[in-house]
Amino acid sequence: MRSGRIAVFEKPSGLLRLENHPIPKISGGELLARIDLCTLCGSDLHTLQGRRSTPTPTVLGHEILGTIVQTTAGAVGFDGRELQVGDRITWTVAASCGDCFYCKRDLPQKCDSLLKYGHAPITDTWTFNGGLGDYCHLKSGSSIHIIPDDIPDRVACPVNCATATVAAALRGSKIEGRSVLVQGAGMLGVTACAMANTMGAERVLVSDKLPERLDRAKAFGATHLIEAGKKSDSLENIRDATNGYGVDIALELTGSVDAVEIGMEAIRMGGEAIWVGTVHPTDPVKIMPETLVRRMLAVRGVHNYNPSDLDFALRFLEENHRRFPFSELVEKTFALSEVNEAIDYAVASKAFRVAVKP
Ligand SMILES: [Zn+2]
Ligand SMILES: [Zn+2]
Repeated sequence: MRSGRIAVFEKPSGLLRLENHPIPKISGGELLARIDLCTLCGSDLHTLQGRRSTPTPTVLGHEILGTIVQTTAGAVGFDGRELQVGDRITWTVAASCGDCFYCKRDLPQKCDSLLKYGHAPITDTWTFNGGLGDYCHLKSGSSIHIIPDDIPDRVACPVNCATATVAAALRGSKIEGRSVLVQGAGMLGVTACAMANTMGAERVLVSDKLPERLDRAKAFGATHLIEAGKKSDSLENIRDATNGYGVDIALELTGSVDAVEIGMEAIRMGGEAIWVGTVHPTDPVKIMPETLVRRMLAVRGVHNYNPSDLDFALRFLEENHRRFPFSELVEKTFALSEVNEAIDYAVASKAFRVAVKP
């Protein structure tokens, strides 16, 4: 083990280039993991298509599963245990300092000195910093989580982005006994249906334009399927499913302004809109302050997650990965040498997830 490959991203619409680099020397609190699997997240595809900017050159990929091959003194896991060579792990998409203004306010994902895997420029001291490579160099301040043995790689791999983000969104609200509208039945949407179901939601409504996605959401615990079409029809169907009151919670995962507006109208008096999908600029949403006041509405934005959300997400998968068809969501796996084919396939097929295996 003297060198390893990384797939280098330079500019949108260009091909990734495989390069060989020497294995880095790691120091206190750091780890070196051999990458077992990396799944392409929607945000990776957006970067590749130029819809989202990132410092370059970089190694994309942040949904990563790995096995520790080198450890250092002070490298401990989320549960406080010292980590060992051979541990099968995932980790937070970012490393945080633990000591700044935001870290002290339980927002480590907004740390003043945040380092994000799959989003950082390649430097002499941090070359293996993303998921599309043979190894990943884990910085101290990353929260490291051991993967329970019986969760297969392809089921566990999206946990540190998709599943943990859904956990952050749902854990902030009371779900038990409530009606939850999940807007968008993609990777996050079907995960949200299953998680809301296991958290005791009375009804799980899901909306999407594609009937085949709604069908899949049904297998993930959705109780009411809403075909997203005309706004008035969607709202009528949502009210019909909730005795005319509307839902307690609308969870927006599509990134579309229309969905944001439907969500605001679909919630009952005193309900909550949770916005997750709009991670890029859109047209403004028109909200009359009076409506917010008189209808006593709350809006909560959720971006990324904290380490306990990732722990919750892993426990959720451990208990439920057989109950819902999570193993079907990674539709195809490519070798690292075929990384460009993997990207083309992911874009063309609109698969929930495509994986790359070194
Ligand atoms: Zn992601
Ligand atoms: Zn910090």
